[in-house]
Amino acid sequence: MAKKTQSYSCDFLIVGQGLAGSLMAWRLWHTGARIMVVDPGGNNASKVAAGLVSPVTGKRWVKMRQVDELLHQARRTYRRLEMELEIRLWFEHKLLRLHQSRAESSLSKRRATEPGYRDFLAAELEPGCAGHGLVDDFGGRWIEGAAHLATTPLLESLRSWLEERNVLRSHSIAYADLKVGETGIQWRDVRCDFVIFCEGWKVIHNPWFAGLPWQPSAGEILTLESPDPLPPHPLNRGIWLLPEGKGRIRIGATYRWHPLDEAPCEEGVGHLLASFRKLFHTPPRYRCQTAAAGVRPNTLDHHPMVGAHPRFPRLILANGFGSKGTLYAPWCSEKLTEHLTQGHPLPPEISIGRYLERADGK
Ligand SMILES: Cc1cc2nc3c(=O)[nH]c(=O)nc-3n(C[C@H](O)[C@H](O)[C@H](O)COP(=O)(O)OP(=O)(O)OC[C@H]3O[C@@H](n4cnc5c(N)ncnc54)[C@H](O)[C@@H]3O)c2cc1C
Repeated sequence: MAKKTQSYSCDFLIVGQGLAGSLMAWRLWHTGARIMVVDPGGNNASKVAAGLVSPVTGKRWVKMRQVDELLHQARRTYRRLEMELEIRLWFEHKLLRLHQSRAESSLSKRRATEPGYRDFLAAELEPGCAGHGLVDDFGGRWIEGAAHLATTPLLESLRSWLEERNVLRSHSIAYADLKVGETGIQWRDVRCDFVIFCEGWKVIHNPWFAGLPWQPSAGEILTLESPDPLPPHPLNRGIWLLPEGKGRIRIGATYRWHPLDEAPCEEGVGHLLASFRKLFHTPPRYRCQTAAAGVRPNTLDHHPMVGAHPRFPRLILANGFGSKGTLYAPWCSEKLTEHLTQGHPLPPEISIGRYLERADGK
């Protein structure tokens, strides 16, 4: 006799369990909403990422917009998750950024005097003072307010947390299986009021949201093992280094727009290893333990894309965290949760409304 499946009814069906989907699920659950998360499991950009956060980034040493608020929300969220899941997730530290030229050294000196930068750009390091065999011909500067998130432990713990509550399905949703109606949406045996799409870069295949200006980029990260002493603190000089202790260090990351492949490419791995060797006068011995790759959900204007579809308001998007998922996911998930449960307006800089308004010629 055929087994009768029981139908499940919920407020929000969340597609994807990367940082975006996991934090949305966790927040909505705590408001008392009924949720269901669908994700096939396996690798994703969030697990590949080193979870590094730096308030000042890029060749121009630019401070991220709203960085104080984003950092505050990230710290609050990850600390709460640490308590609830009983694991260490959030590590705050300084980051040493080594200058690559005289021009960069002048730029960082100038930036350090600008209002708004003083809290983040700390003491300059004179050439020859970095130690650990590092090439530091142009000196460097310590960046305050940096941190990193243990992304894989977070996602694995939240996956178990969802399983314990019986609100996780290990599936990949086929878009054609979503039946969108006036009064709700049906996916297989699940009936929901809203679908929140958090598929990361795979949103480029989403029939409702693929038309937005996505610019996904693939990238590699390596984990090296060395019997030699390694720098004990995170640092950046073209690439970043993140010590993990016990002779292990992570290095990254590359950027490539073609092909969008989740398997590491030889060229990317070669580039990271060559850049690693160039950091030192005498490179430490190393063995490459793992090479991982993922695809970032970047957007044309480098800002997240959050909000409801203009014609199908039951279809919601939470995506576009680009290279900064660790900082964006806590803040954006809070803003979207407040929007969905309390009717608060979304901040215009993350709302997909900014593109829809342009399309309307406003
Ligand atoms: C190499 C690399 C290094 C990075 N380093 C950093 C860093 O140091 N700091 C930082 O802040 N950010 C970093 N990032 C960026 C960060 O990883 C992303 O911003 C963030 O992880 C995006 O999270 P997400 O949840 O949107 O996407 P993802 O983590 O990709 O999650 C999307 C999920 O959706 C699921 N999914 C997709 N389609 C479907 C479907 N049809 N049905 C069901 N499930 C589906 C996927 O299986 C996946 O699990 C890095 C990214 C890469 C690739």
